[in-house]
Amino acid sequence: MQDMQNGYDAYEMKDTTILEEPIGLESGIFGMETTSDSSKIASKEASPANSTPLKDDTPSNVNLALKYRPILFSELIGQESVSLTLSASLDSNKISNAYLFSGLRGSGKTSSARIMARSLECEKGISSHPCGVCDNCVLALKGNHPDIIEIDGASNRKIDDIRDLIEQTKYRPSVGRFKIFIIDEVHMLTKEAFNALLKTLEEPPSYVKFILATTDPLKMPATILSRTQHYRFKKISNAKLLAHLKTILEKEKVSYEEEALNLILKSQSGSVRDVLTMLEQAIIYSKQNLSVEAVSTMIGALNPSVFDELFLILSSGDMQKAREFVLSVRDYEAQMVIDELAFFIKTKVTNLELPLELATRYLRIINDARYDLQNDSDSDFCLLLCVLRMCEASKVLDIKTAIARAEASVLKEASSKDSLESKPSEGIPSKLEVRKDATLSASSKDFVVSTSVKERAQSENLEQEASQKVDKALEEVEQKPTFLELPKDTRYVLFLERLSFKDAELGEIFENFIEYKSFEDGILELDNFAPDELASIIRTRYSGIKLLLDEVFGSNLKLKVNKVLAKVTPKSASIDKDLP
Ligand SMILES: [Zn+2]
Repeated sequence: MQDMQNGYDAYEMKDTTILEEPIGLESGIFGMETTSDSSKIASKEASPANSTPLKDDTPSNVNLALKYRPILFSELIGQESVSLTLSASLDSNKISNAYLFSGLRGSGKTSSARIMARSLECEKGISSHPCGVCDNCVLALKGNHPDIIEIDGASNRKIDDIRDLIEQTKYRPSVGRFKIFIIDEVHMLTKEAFNALLKTLEEPPSYVKFILATTDPLKMPATILSRTQHYRFKKISNAKLLAHLKTILEKEKVSYEEEALNLILKSQSGSVRDVLTMLEQAIIYSKQNLSVEAVSTMIGALNPSVFDELFLILSSGDMQKAREFVLSVRDYEAQMVIDELAFFIKTKVTNLELPLELATRYLRIINDARYDLQNDSDSDFCLLLCVLRMCEASKVLDIKTAIARAEASVLKEASSKDSLESKPSEGIPSKLEVRKDATLSASSKDFVVSTSVKERAQSENLEQEASQKVDKALEEVEQKPTFLELPKDTRYVLFLERLSFKDAELGEIFENFIEYKSFEDGILELDNFAPDELASIIRTRYSGIKLLLDEVFGSNLKLKVNKVLAKVTPKSASIDKDLP
């Protein structure tokens, strides 16, 4: 809390510095206060600790947070509903005595309070669009309006402070329409101070308005809450912040890599002010070129590209390289590496670049590692264990995975041989689609290919390389079809499913006219009830059927088909119409 407050103070002081206003008795934390009534409160702020203005040390002397602070409600970042409601009430002249703005630090509460104050004071009339040029607007924009009084609730929390404030409400505004009190961090007031404020809040003089701001409305007495119009400021989404940063950088003509901006956002907690301060530092540090490398070095974060490397290692299953990876990041906190790793995996899942099953395994391992970290002081070892286990998990292929891979393999075979479809243009996946299918299977090798295809498809060479990787992966699957361990009849069901998926007509024929008898010593015995017309369809597409059978039952399969004439009616009548 103390740090946050200091941050706030620093910001306020900076604000004043840029405006080249003297910091003194009249303008400490109150900044805008100039009436003599305030001197008592203000003097408490003019302690030696914060009476020296902070120097803005950017080369161009630009304070981005100040330069790009919102001047109108429409410029607020990520607070559309609040700004719409406030604008509507201002434009329809429905003004409340007291407003409460609650929300996270840096979500726009103070900016909104200031816009609100100007909206109420503008000489052109009360509206959501203060003109910005009249005397009242200009004074307020400079932070010099005598009737807009900003109070920091954290440092003026006692009952005496509030009594001083109440005393001020007795004097009419000197130049403006209203006397407006903005109390920041109002939840910090003592119980007695709140009680003292209560009556004035309930029945203030007609010219007095209160705008209270807090990060913690739950700490406020219900009696105060019920006397204010409460506006909740949302956490600003990273997407909106990112867009804001881009706009600023383009205006400032600073080049950037988007990933570098994401690093900045990730290191902050959604406060526009903090993000802009960080951006400012990054611009200086990177000498006007926000690269991922510069920004990650500056904030002490890992360059996200190291995780791309790690994923290649994981997919290769190379334990030695995995160990080397852990050594290469030993300068970073293991906790941070693990958190970043989790974030990376979640991003991959969100972008559909990592099979869910593998992602789930990875995240489970990461959770274990977090637990280990809490209970084991050897954090480097915890990280090593985590990475090695992930490496192992990538190698373990369960039956489902093998089936999914085999499916990709079948599709690929089918497309290259055109064996299952009479019309090649229909239903047969293109080479690219085959590769997509391959990426859906839960295997790390395919995942690597997926990354290659998606991110580097522009390069023909790389795509070729990806294709070769698929081929290699598929070859391996063909060599060790894990599902051979499945029960025999289950395998036949699997084959039927596969066949129907590939060729609906054939699937239906098999469903209705072919019966599984047995599978012994590599011989699959089937009963064939199909009438001649259908049997001929089976014959013409036999090579495709055989391929699928080989996939499921092994490539040395021998087929024994008994022609049976007894069964003349199909189990289902749906195919009747096709019969002559
Ligand atoms: Zn104006």
